[in-house]
Amino acid sequence: MPATPSAFETTPTFADLTTIRIGGPIDEFVRPETRDEVIDTVRRADAQGTRLCIIGGGSNMLVSDAPFHGVVVRDMRDGIRVSRSAPGDSGDVIVEADAGANWDDFVAWTVSEGYEGIEGLSGIPGSVGASVVQNIGAYGQEVASSVLSVTAWDRQAGAIVEIGHDNLAFGYRFSALKATMYETPEVQGTGEGRRETRWFPSPRYVVLAVTYRFRRSRQGTVGMGQLAKALGVEKGTRMDLTDIRAAVLSIRATKDMLEDPTRYANPWMAGTKREIPEAGEPNHNRWSCGSFFINPVVTAEHARRYLDGAPQYPGVLPDGTPGVKTSAAWLIDHAGFHKGFRLPGVAADSADGAEPSSAGLSTVHTLALTNRGGATFDDVWRLASCIRRGVDDAYHIDLVPEPVVIR
Ligand SMILES: Cc1cc2nc3c(=O)[nH]c(=O)nc-3n(C[C@H](O)[C@H](O)[C@H](O)COP(=O)(O)OP(=O)(O)OC[C@H]3O[C@@H](n4cnc5c(N)ncnc54)[C@H](O)[C@@H]3O)c2cc1C
Repeated sequence: MPATPSAFETTPTFADLTTIRIGGPIDEFVRPETRDEVIDTVRRADAQGTRLCIIGGGSNMLVSDAPFHGVVVRDMRDGIRVSRSAPGDSGDVIVEADAGANWDDFVAWTVSEGYEGIEGLSGIPGSVGASVVQNIGAYGQEVASSVLSVTAWDRQAGAIVEIGHDNLAFGYRFSALKATMYETPEVQGTGEGRRETRWFPSPRYVVLAVTYRFRRSRQGTVGMGQLAKALGVEKGTRMDLTDIRAAVLSIRATKDMLEDPTRYANPWMAGTKREIPEAGEPNHNRWSCGSFFINPVVTAEHARRYLDGAPQYPGVLPDGTPGVKTSAAWLIDHAGFHKGFRLPGVAADSADGAEPSSAGLSTVHTLALTNRGGATFDDVWRLASCIRRGVDDAYHIDLVPEPVVIR
């Protein structure tokens, strides 16, 4: 087990807590171990008008190197409760998991118990709490299809609320919870008591626990062509959950879309994951936020005019009408940014500007912007901006970053 931080280091930096290992010092870091402590910490920060950031695995965040003047809260509760069998004779099971539980530990547990529903989401870094904010998805599955409800602390109402699946407005990497993060500030009171409530960089709803409905089954459905190919079966085949999980983890390993286990040697990560894979040398392809851009959805007219040759799938436009979804990775690659791409370093990095920047595309995955060691927020943002401009020039599409960007 990693040692606990020394008494002299009272707070971590975001670089200690995020998978891309970038981000400045934090004023106050709290690790509550009970539900009451989580709520009390959030309530205190909100009452004082202090900036608040709830952090899970730090795997979907890109944070500035400047000091964060506020409170960062990492819920340390990782309980899992099989609460009851679902009504009727479906054989389904209802499971509640604490927000602080490590996502992949939870997936591994469901697979070992013979609960079908999230096996395709194996290997995604992060926490149970954040998984519903972002509606994580991969290999033909989305967490939304197994979620029954979310228990959350409503920072506006000052109360615990239960939000059912139908009110969570799950969409592609989206939920009603995520939408509240970007709500315009609400002004409360007048005169000296006047206070602007602003939730960002976390939602109005702090997830405390998530309730799932799983099918009791040792088998799952192979939901995506790439996964089917790896398993040597047809898409739609029923296979052992353990085989599906193993195949997903091995595909992810070839793309370095797993977290780098060396991060758990950092004392500030202690107690956040039960099953830590053996760590070798640091792997910079894994120092990322996963996919940096969301796959865009455009109108059929836009696709016809500009996306000749690009992958095209049915999608939904922001106004709810049908559109065409395409691959951000394909656009980036075809706009000239290939695997391993790095911009020249700025003068601060290298006296003559000849050294490449410390931020670059993963050498095995076009969609992962990575920290090659010592990268700053500006290095990554410069790379992201350059890619956005290139894709916009070539395809008239402004790529939208997937991680939460905290400046
Ligand atoms: C290598 C790699 C591979 C990835 N692959 C995938 C993938 O295949 N599919 C996919 O969808 N994503 C993927 N991701 C992105 C990321 O893992 C997910 O978005 C994950 O759910 C983030 O969880 P987290 O706990 O790390 O969130 P954090 O980065 O800690 O937080 C992200 C946001 O959620 C908020 N949040 C965190 N906890 C709570 C809570 N309890 N209540 C309310 N808000 C909260 C934070 O305030 C922040 O706004 C990948 C990332 C990496 C690094």
